[in-house]
Amino acid sequence: TYVVTDACIRCKYMDCVEVCPVDCFYEGENMLVINPNECIDCGVCEPECPAEAILPDTESGLEKWLELNSTYSAQWPNL
Ligand code: SF4
Repeated sequence: TYVVTDACIRCKYMDCVEVCPVDCFYEGENMLVINPNECIDCGVCEPECPAEAILPDTESGLEKWLELNSTYSAQWPNL
């Protein structure tokens, strides 16, 4: 899955949302998040993010953000 990180905070540029083929972006408290259960790992959102906030979960140190993406996407409406 791909993960939205803190670089998204107060950005919310939304280009990632437009390109996602499975609509798995959700509105978090102050950032966007990806539902890890719905993301198909296509990677098309990554280059669309001007803040470079979207990273593959294969990168290290993203555990905290993965958990937050999971929690927020379970709570908030789909975009
Ligand atoms: Fe959507 Fe693909 Fe990005 Fe996953 S990697 S959030 S499926 S655009």
